[in-house]
Amino acid sequence: MADTILTNLNIWNGLGDSLDQHHSSIRIRDGKIVALENVQDAPGAINMAGVYVTPGLIDAHVHMCLDPEIRDPFAHGKIKRELLIEQMIERSQSMLAAGITTARDLGGGKWLELAVRDMINSGEVVGCRLVCAGQPITSVKGHCHFWGGEAEGVEQALEVLARQHARGVDLIKVMATGGSITPDSAPKDAQFSSSIMKSIVARANELEYTVAAHCHGTEGIRHAAEAGVTTIEHCSWVGEEGWGKAYDPEVVEKIVANDVRVSPTVNAGWKRYIGTQKFEGMMMDNYRKMKQAGVKLIASTDAGIPGVIHHHLPLAIPVFAHFAELTPVEALKSATSDCAEAIGLGDQVGQISPDFSADLVFYADDPTANLEALATPLRVMSKGVFFDKAS
Ligand SMILES: [Zn+2]
Repeated sequence: MADTILTNLNIWNGLGDSLDQHHSSIRIRDGKIVALENVQDAPGAINMAGVYVTPGLIDAHVHMCLDPEIRDPFAHGKIKRELLIEQMIERSQSMLAAGITTARDLGGGKWLELAVRDMINSGEVVGCRLVCAGQPITSVKGHCHFWGGEAEGVEQALEVLARQHARGVDLIKVMATGGSITPDSAPKDAQFSSSIMKSIVARANELEYTVAAHCHGTEGIRHAAEAGVTTIEHCSWVGEEGWGKAYDPEVVEKIVANDVRVSPTVNAGWKRYIGTQKFEGMMMDNYRKMKQAGVKLIASTDAGIPGVIHHHLPLAIPVFAHFAELTPVEALKSATSDCAEAIGLGDQVGQISPDFSADLVFYADDPTANLEALATPLRVMSKGVFFDKAS
């Protein structure tokens, strides 16, 4: 097939501190970026008329199987397999239309998101590229136990892990603390000992999996950091005094020493906290201290939990930038190249560079100057093909 050449672009390549001053066209072949050039006119050229382009956005934390409108986590279990698959395909297409070309799914109960992942990878359906964790390892009656990953002690935890491996997951998810949506589980409490966490991470690494750890409470954050998980989700610093109040600089040192990324799941709804001195100030303080200590933050939303819409990452990024005090380019990196690296796809997506997937989002306005531009992409390309939701 002839090359596609997109010309007359303002390119932000996913890595630079500003727009690319040296290139204005992108050559694409077989779904991949071949080169950045300065072609004005050539066979196969599509004149993009001066629009802005970034790499496709990446959400590091979603749940494709969850309907944000359903508040009761047990109600999800009653949805029939065929309908659920249909809903997940629809969600992945809304994500694509919004400019989210890759997402990391951090848990479900029936491995159906893996089936959708495979349908998308094979080209049977078009959708957002997915990497999937399957059933999270959790304690007995622990956070999201209804997904089937309950384990008491290290042997059972490794059995749950082996079951995910047999199902073909891309990474391992472990619930290091309780969570809000599960009755009788306390976000502040650690669910596994440091030693069990270490065994889980060691086995996962043997099998070449990365590990994402759900962590609200500080003790669980410490266990995850000591075990050297790949990403800490939420990182809410919950302690006896409540949410955000048990920040621990020694734990942060471990996070940095073990090169763990933090995925704070700041969703678009956090906008409601802006101006509310208490919560806003506390969270901003925590993120500021983490950043100063050298912690790398990545963009994520926890899409699928009540009220958090799957395709709202572009609306969440400016809110995340506010709370974490990121410049527009830092925020964009957290949702492209940095995020790709954290989820193990750093050589495939998140950059407009040769050999990367041609996942591109086009905007009328410059998102490196104003993140609000992300809300209204003009067009989206996935694997070298323009996606039009209507078609
Ligand atoms: Zn989650």
